[in-house]
Amino acid sequence: MAAGRAAELGAKVVLIEKNETLGKKLMITGKGRCNFTHNEFDIRKFTEKFGRNGRFLYSALSVFGAREVIDFFESRGVKGRVEQGDRIFPEKGNAQDILNVLIKYLAEGKVNILLNSEVTGFKQEKGKIFQVLLRDCQISAGKFIICTGGKSYPQTGSTGNGYQWAEQLGHTVIPPVPALNPIKTSDGWVKELQGLSLKNVSLQLFQNNKKQDERFGEMLFTHFGVSGPIVMDMSKTIGELLKNGPAKLILNLKPALDFKKLGQRIQRDFEKYKGRIF
Ligand SMILES: Cc1cc2nc3c(=O)[nH]c(=O)nc-3n(C[C@H](O)[C@H](O)[C@H](O)COP(=O)(O)OP(=O)(O)OC[C@H]3O[C@@H](n4cnc5c(N)ncnc54)[C@H](O)[C@@H]3O)c2cc1C
Repeated sequence: MAAGRAAELGAKVVLIEKNETLGKKLMITGKGRCNFTHNEFDIRKFTEKFGRNGRFLYSALSVFGAREVIDFFESRGVKGRVEQGDRIFPEKGNAQDILNVLIKYLAEGKVNILLNSEVTGFKQEKGKIFQVLLRDCQISAGKFIICTGGKSYPQTGSTGNGYQWAEQLGHTVIPPVPALNPIKTSDGWVKELQGLSLKNVSLQLFQNNKKQDERFGEMLFTHFGVSGPIVMDMSKTIGELLKNGPAKLILNLKPALDFKKLGQRIQRDFEKYKGRIF
């Protein structure tokens, strides 16, 4: 996107990618369907979803927010479809459609794409890069954009090089913490429930008997713990809490019912399904 936009604005652009293809990570997003934006056009509300650090995104999203993302892809033939949780996916449910639009955008701007080309370092003067070093050549330019991704899923190419480079250029890097990931649990019994998925449940997060977070929606049990939308949404907070000590998850399977109503419901179900083995 950055390369395409720079070219659109008239720059002569070289995109350097160490993988053999472009968009390796993009292709696995949203389980191969790419949840490419969110159905939230109020920038303040959008940034709130990123927690306290969301404010950092405000100015970028004011220029290119959810509305602009949708328009960008729609004007290039890929419509968005809103799904549960206000997530927006390409209409045909295929991340390849999103990648194709971006590759075409690069072609329109005549971006020179170098694949299988790893940047191994750079030369700088007074904190400004003037040359990047590849295994067998160097590339000099007036401006560089570092788009090396984060640290998750390093198999896709994002091995965290950008963090080291930012430090070398004098920036302070706050150590990244995992976010939007499944959670490993210490209780062995959880694994016995692997494959069980739940809807309309509530999950509460506690540390030292103090409630830290609560989410309502879908989750599932896996062979190592728990996953699914509400777990993923909570995972960043869990990661931060685990630095201080163990954290506890409490699952409420019937959050809409109080104890009395739940008791009545169970009695009713026993009556209704008597003779059945539970
Ligand atoms: C399993 C999974 C599912 C996800 N699902 C979604 C989703 O549905 N919706 C969503 O919005 N986000 C999703 N994300 C997050 C999303 O993938 C990232 O936010 C996004 O890919 C970041 O884009 P990027 O261009 O900054 O970095 P990346 O997509 O990581 O691209 C960085 C590129 O830089 C290249 N590179 C790195 N170092 C070098 C180097 N030294 N030399 C040359 N090239 C280098 C890498 O090979 C890579 O191709 C998901 C992430 C994961 C792991």
